[in-house]
Amino acid sequence: MRKSAVRLDTPIQYVKGVGPRRAADLSKEGIATAEDLLLYLPFRYEDRSRFKKISELRDGEAAVVLGRVEAAGLYRTARRGIAIFEAVLQDETASLILKFFNQPFLNKVIRPRDWVVAYGQVRFDLFKPGRLSIQNPEFEILDHPTGTQAHVGRITPIYTRVGTVSGKVIRQITWDLAHEIEEKIPAWLPAAVEAKGGWPDRTTAVLSLHAPPADCAAAEKLKALNDFCSPFHLRLIFEEFFVFQTGLLVARLRRKERVKERTLTITDPIRSRLKQMLPFHPTGAQKKALREIVEDLRSRHPMNRLLQGDVGSGKTIVAAQAALVAVDNGWQVAVMAPTEILVEQHFRTFGALFAPLGVKTAMLSRVTPARERSEIRRRLGDGSLNVLIGTHALLQEGVQFANLGFVIIDEQHRFGVLQRSALMEKGENVDTLIMTATPIPRSLAMTVYGDLDISLIDQMPPGRKPIRTVLKSEPSREEVYQLVEREVAAGRQAYVVYPLIEESEKINLRAVKAMSEELRRRFPHLQIGVLHGRLKPAEKEKLMTRFAAGEVNILAATTVIEVGIDMPNATVMVIEHAERFGLSQLHQLRGRVGRGAKDSICVLLVDRVGSEDAWQRLQIMARSQDGFLIAEKDLEIRGPGEFAGRRQSGAPLFRHGNLWRDMKIMQMARKEAAAYLQRLSGPERVGYISQVARIWKVHFRLTRVG
Ligand code: ADP
Ligand code: MG
Repeated sequence: MRKSAVRLDTPIQYVKGVGPRRAADLSKEGIATAEDLLLYLPFRYEDRSRFKKISELRDGEAAVVLGRVEAAGLYRTARRGIAIFEAVLQDETASLILKFFNQPFLNKVIRPRDWVVAYGQVRFDLFKPGRLSIQNPEFEILDHPTGTQAHVGRITPIYTRVGTVSGKVIRQITWDLAHEIEEKIPAWLPAAVEAKGGWPDRTTAVLSLHAPPADCAAAEKLKALNDFCSPFHLRLIFEEFFVFQTGLLVARLRRKERVKERTLTITDPIRSRLKQMLPFHPTGAQKKALREIVEDLRSRHPMNRLLQGDVGSGKTIVAAQAALVAVDNGWQVAVMAPTEILVEQHFRTFGALFAPLGVKTAMLSRVTPARERSEIRRRLGDGSLNVLIGTHALLQEGVQFANLGFVIIDEQHRFGVLQRSALMEKGENVDTLIMTATPIPRSLAMTVYGDLDISLIDQMPPGRKPIRTVLKSEPSREEVYQLVEREVAAGRQAYVVYPLIEESEKINLRAVKAMSEELRRRFPHLQIGVLHGRLKPAEKEKLMTRFAAGEVNILAATTVIEVGIDMPNATVMVIEHAERFGLSQLHQLRGRVGRGAKDSICVLLVDRVGSEDAWQRLQIMARSQDGFLIAEKDLEIRGPGEFAGRRQSGAPLFRHGNLWRDMKIMQMARKEAAAYLQRLSGPERVGYISQVARIWKVHFRLTRVG
């Protein structure tokens, strides 16, 4: 019987060398088919096509050698009892010592007569004069030195282990698969774009990355492979970005094709009500943003706009103004925020602005009593309620509006913009404004939010005092407490924020309780409020109301306050264990103070700075208050994964590309995708767009196209 050939869609379990146990591990990492495995690329390459002869090795050089183990043994140093495992590796010219520290188990792994490839830096041995050794080399035991070509005799790809499946096993499996597969890997790039760019075809690119052609031994080609910029890499990265950008552009075009039935006009009475609403003059940046939003509201096509600006730049006010314009045109408005606390905050803010103007506002939350809930539903249905504020679940709850026209989404620092799809698709032709408080670096905004229009508030309201930021360590705690005491004595309020320490809610709760007890002991005469994720919504609401009224002097909180609380009288922010927070989070937290006319201070209380990254973050915070700069730095330190939004699995959005490293390629992909779409028409266009939609769904796990 003829053996059936492997196909790209062959389940991973049936790929030669895999089997059920390894398949389980691989599929956990998203490798479910033969094709997935082929797209799992090496992270490094080693030239094992030419091994160095041991007799030619020089002190200080990095080299790969192939030899046979002559002798091996484990011993401990006399004084400190450190386990040292040594193997003497012999080739046809000489021998060399492989020396491993604190890995006694290797005694059972590397045995005399084994063929071993070792890689590392060659040094004169400290204890055996004149002998060369490699300390803690990378190594691999070969079944046979000249047998399979998978591991030696070529530019050898090095793979990251997946679960219990070692890199070496992956190499063997992909090597066999790459030789067995006959099917072409379907290209994502249209042929015309492929030809124009002179790209190697997809199958060649993928297979070459598992089995680089012999000429890749040339130094610059090997370097390109290791730097992810070989032509094969670039093809795959460009291809991935091209499809991503095409999806964004199509979504945008589709939106421009949709037509709203509502119309909107700006009348003099509306203009004067807008003025009446604000107790201050809007900044130039706020005026410009409002103009852009109103322009969209008037347009025949639905708005999909991102309102971007630093914490406290006045986004909420702009959104409220836009909402008033909509309401005065007879539309209903929904305002959605990610947390109950924020919902309550928005309800207070919007309520206070709208009440004098006769705009009817309501809040729907988990604790809204059934009676009130049905009353709200009724008023939404008959149109007598103008603005409804709730969490992101609002639209999913099946709330029926009489005439919903405008949705405002407060995302604060949460990105995942790419994952809002469900919501967008609900309100078909509704105008959507997304507020985001973390400035997205300019370099990313255009590419990642390519389907949104962007309004930027790049100016702070007047009179804002800079927030003094200081780093303090544990021994200065009392000094920090005295500072808090002085501010409170002057009638101001303080936040003390404690990071979530553990995944476990219980442990966190205990930590927060312990902290608040310490604060109560230290400040027996003050009112201390404790805000954390376990409080019931009604308790939170009560606490926040008391804080707003100045009845609570110090608000001790977990990071729940990160999102958008606005209390101008709060002038001190103490961040405990500041080293544990990310830059954007620190910036968000600091933005809770400095909202009034008084001088504010942010104390970063540092326990122990464990890493270089943490140290860098604290320095940046102490030096800068520019949200954009901070976001750029954050991107540099953390990489762009967080910005791009993550797939549900938690895997990064892109398989091959890296937004930071490959920014230029993304820009090129965007240009090429736009040019291609422009030329494309008829059935060809329909066909390619549906292919892109499929790739978005299957590979990006996003469903935003079309
Ligand atoms: P954001 O939503 O961007 O964090 P907010 O809209 O909540 O900012 O505004 C922050 C604070 O600044 C609020 O107390 C608000 O009333 C005030 N504010 C906003 N715009 C102005 C302005 N143009 N002049 C003075 N104060 C302003
Ligand atoms: Mg705000």
